[in-house]
Amino acid sequence: MRASEVRQKFFDFFKSKEHAIVPSAPMVVKNDPTLMFTNAGMNQFKDIFLGNREPAATRVADAQKCLRVSGKHNDLEEVGHDTYHHTMFEMLGNWSFGDYFKKEAIDWAWEFLTEELKVDKNRLYATVFEGDAGDNVDRDEEAAQCWQQYLPKERILNGNKKDNFWEMGESGPCGPCSEIHIDLRNEEERMKKGGHELVNKDHPEVIEIWNLVFIQYNRKSSGELTALPQKHVDTGMGFERLCRVLQQKSSNYDTDIFLPLIHQIASLTDVKYGASNDGDVAMRVIADHIRTIAFSIADGQLPSNNKAGYVIRRILRRAVRYAYTFLNVRKPFLSGLLSVLIDVMGEAYPELKSQKELIQKVIHEEEESFLKTLATGIALLDKIIVETLKGEYKVVDGKVAFELYDTFGFPLDLTELILSEKGLVVNRREFEKEMEAQKSRARNASAVETGDWVVLRDDKEEEFVGYDYYETEVFITRYRQIKVKNKEQYQLVFNITPFYAESGGQVGDSGVLVSEEEKVEIIDTKKENDLIIHIAKKLPANPEASFKAEVNVEKRRRAASNHTATHLLHKALRTVLGDHVEQKGSLVHPDYLRFDFAHFQKVTADEIRQVEKMVNADIRANIQVEEHREVPLEKAREMGAMALFGEKYGDVVRTIGFGNSVELCGGTHVHATGEIGFFRIISEGSVSAGIRRIEAVTADRAEELVYSQADVLEEIAGLVKSKGELRKSIESLISQNSRLTKDLEGMMQNFLRIEKQSIIDGADNVNSVSVIIRQVKPELGGNLKDLAFQLRNDMDGEMVAVLGSEVKGKPQLAVILSDSLAENGTLNAVELIRSVAQEINGGGGGQPFFASAGGKNPAGLDSALTKAKALIEEKLG
Ligand code: ATP
Ligand code: MG
Repeated sequence: MRASEVRQKFFDFFKSKEHAIVPSAPMVVKNDPTLMFTNAGMNQFKDIFLGNREPAATRVADAQKCLRVSGKHNDLEEVGHDTYHHTMFEMLGNWSFGDYFKKEAIDWAWEFLTEELKVDKNRLYATVFEGDAGDNVDRDEEAAQCWQQYLPKERILNGNKKDNFWEMGESGPCGPCSEIHIDLRNEEERMKKGGHELVNKDHPEVIEIWNLVFIQYNRKSSGELTALPQKHVDTGMGFERLCRVLQQKSSNYDTDIFLPLIHQIASLTDVKYGASNDGDVAMRVIADHIRTIAFSIADGQLPSNNKAGYVIRRILRRAVRYAYTFLNVRKPFLSGLLSVLIDVMGEAYPELKSQKELIQKVIHEEEESFLKTLATGIALLDKIIVETLKGEYKVVDGKVAFELYDTFGFPLDLTELILSEKGLVVNRREFEKEMEAQKSRARNASAVETGDWVVLRDDKEEEFVGYDYYETEVFITRYRQIKVKNKEQYQLVFNITPFYAESGGQVGDSGVLVSEEEKVEIIDTKKENDLIIHIAKKLPANPEASFKAEVNVEKRRRAASNHTATHLLHKALRTVLGDHVEQKGSLVHPDYLRFDFAHFQKVTADEIRQVEKMVNADIRANIQVEEHREVPLEKAREMGAMALFGEKYGDVVRTIGFGNSVELCGGTHVHATGEIGFFRIISEGSVSAGIRRIEAVTADRAEELVYSQADVLEEIAGLVKSKGELRKSIESLISQNSRLTKDLEGMMQNFLRIEKQSIIDGADNVNSVSVIIRQVKPELGGNLKDLAFQLRNDMDGEMVAVLGSEVKGKPQLAVILSDSLAENGTLNAVELIRSVAQEINGGGGGQPFFASAGGKNPAGLDSALTKAKALIEEKLG
C-alpha cells in the first residue's frame, strides 16, 4: 500500500468514527515561549487541554508534521544510524476532547490496525502504566482490561513512568499512556526469543508504532496530581513506521517515502546505496535532513544564527558534512533533491510546491557558504594535527575542537574522525566544559521562571474587544508572578480586554489599569496558549477590584497606521516586482514598519520610488477598511486573501481589505487609508538568500523624516553659501577642491626638492665622510625614511645622516649610512639609534645601514641630534 493511501485510510477511518479531519499545524511554532518546533500532534491542541479554548469539534484526527531535534524530544543522534527515528516525521493522531476515553481509543486503534490494514495480530504488543506509589496512582487496569479482549495476557506488558506516563511539562495536564509495539523479526528469530523481552529495548525490529495517551490528571507545580474534570484522548502514530510495516520493509528508508530520495542522492553523488555502511548512513541522514530543511523553510523558518534558525542551520550543515566526508561531495547538491521531495510529498503538503524557488535558493546558498568554511576548517585542523604530532601527547585541546564547532560549524564527531586518521584524539572533557559554558550562557540569557496562576474568578473565555474599544471595565481573572532575568513581573489575565496582544508582527499594546484607589502600568501585552497576558511591573494592591483598562491610544494609532501601510506595501510590491513576492515576516511597531519578502535581487531605486508612489496614491484615495471578523477559511481564500503559508489559523478567520488588498490578519488597522497621511521607505536590503527587507515610516514619522532631510539640505546650502542652485554650488566646490589638491601636490614636490638640496648643501665633512645632522620640517617628517633613502641616493661618496622631526606632537628619528661605512663597521645605524633615542624617551631598531625610532618626548629632539653629532665625530675620528 502506497504511503499516500495509508494516510488517506487513516483519515477515512476516523471520519467514519465522526472525527473532523484538520490540517497539520506549522512545524515551526510561533507565539509559544516553551517550544520552537511542533514535536507531537498534541501541540496545536495544548490550549484546549489547558482549558483556555473551547474545541470546535470534540473528535478530531490529523497528520501532523513533527520535528524532534531539540528540548525534551531529541532524536538527532539516532537518525540515519537506526532506521526508524527521523528528525522530521508525520504523526497520525486522533483526539477526544472530553468525549470518548480509553475503551473507544483502544478499540479503534485495534480495529484500524488489524481489520482495516490487516496487520498481523500475532506480532502486536501493548503496554500499560504499571502505577506509581509516589504519585499515588495505581496500575492502569482500565486500559489493561480493554486490551485483554484482543491480546493474551503475556502480550500486555507493564511500563514504567518514563515510557508510560505522559506529561505536558513540569506542570499541567498528564496521564497514563498505552503503547502499541510490533515485532517485525522473522519466524525463526521470534521462536528463539519472545518479543515481550524486546519491547522498549531499542531493538531495531521490535518498535513502537502508536501511543495512546489518556489525559486525566493535572499536575500542580508543587508536584501534586489532581483529577481533571474533563478527560481527553491524545494518540500519535509514526506514519513512516506504519508504512514500513505495511510495505514489509526492514527499514523506513526502504518505503516509497524515502527510497526516491535515496536513489536521487545515489545518482547525484555516484555512490551506490548498500556499498558501505558509512555511505548508507550518510544517505539516510541526508534523505532525512532534506525533509526537515525544506519543510522548515516552507513554514517560514530560515536558517540563521540563533534559536530555531540555528537548529535548522546545524541540521543543514550536518547533512553537508555527511555528504562531504562519506560521499565525497565538494559542490552544493542538496537543493537537487527538492524536486524528488516535492514528487513524494508535494500533494499532501502544497507549501513545498508553492515555495520551491525560495527553498532551493536558500539551501543552495547555505550549502555553498558552509562548504567554504568546511574547507577552511579542515585546513586549520591540518595545521593543528602537524603541531600536535610534534609534541609528546597525542591529544588535541578541547578548546580547539570547540572553536571548530563554534566558528566553522564542525560537529565534534567530524573533528574526531579527521583526528583519528592521524592517531589523535580530542580532550573531550575540555570540549564539554566549553560547550556547557556556552549553554549556560544561553540559558541565563533567556531564563524565565514562572509561578503558579492565582485564580480569582472563573471566567473561561477572555474576550478581546480591542478592535472596537480603547478602554473597558475589567476584572482580573487570574495572575501569576514571573521572573525575567531575575526581575519580577506580573502577568495578568482579564475577563475582557481592549489590549492587543503581540502577534502577526504587530507589537503588543501598552497602557494603564486604573481603579478607584490605584493606577498600574501595563508595559506590554502578549499571547500564550490563546490567553491574552498583560504584563505589569507590579501587582495591583487590590487585584480583586474593578478596573478601567486603558490602551495607550497614541501608540496604538501609530501601530495601526503602520500595519495598514504594511498591507498596502505588500500589494504594491507584488504589482511592481511580481507575484513571487511573498511575505516572510514583518514587524509593525508604533515608530516604523519592517517587511521581509521573497525576492531574488536588489530592489532598484526606481522600483522603490514606484512602490512608494503606489502606496501614497492609495493613501490619498482614502480607501475604507473592509473588515470581516468571521469568514470560513475557504471563503477567505476565494476572496483572494493573501496568507502566509503554514500560518496557524482556526477554521474561521478575519480578513482585512483595503481596495484590492485582502489579507488574513488579526491586527489593528486604520478606518480609512487617508489616516496614514504619508509613507516613505527608509531602507532596502538583503536579510538572507532570497529574502529582502524593507523598512518604512508613515504619518508624523514620515513627515519628520521629510523635514529633517529638508533641514539638512538647508544647512548645507547655508554652509556652501549657495544662492539658488545647491547642486551647482556643490559641484563647483568639488572641482575647486580637486584643482587645489593637485596644485598643492605640485608645490609639495618642489618644496621637498629645495629642502633636500639645502640639507645636502649643509652637510659637514668629517674625514671625507659627509655628515648630516638635521631636524627637518614637519611637512617632511611624515616620511623620514623616504627622505633618508633619497639623500643616500643623491649623494656621492660616503655619508651618514641623522634626521629628526616632530609629527603631530611625536618625535621621530632616522639614521642612514652609505654601504661601505656600515659594512666595515665604522658606524652602526642600530647602535646609533638606540643610544640617541633615549633622549626622546623612545626606542627603535633596523639594520646596520638604516634604523629608525619613535618616542614620547619631542623636547629631547635637540639633545638627541647633538648627541648623535658627538658620537659620529668620535667614531669617524
Ligand atoms: P520511541 O521510543 O520509538 O522514540 P517515543 O516514545 O518517543 O518513541 P511518542 O513520543 O510516543 O514516541 O510518539 C508517538 C509515535 O510517534 C511513536 O509511537 C512513533 O511511532 C512515532 N515516533 C516517535 N519519534 C519518532 C521519530 N523520531 N521518528 C519517527 N517516528 C517517531
Ligand atoms: Mg522517542
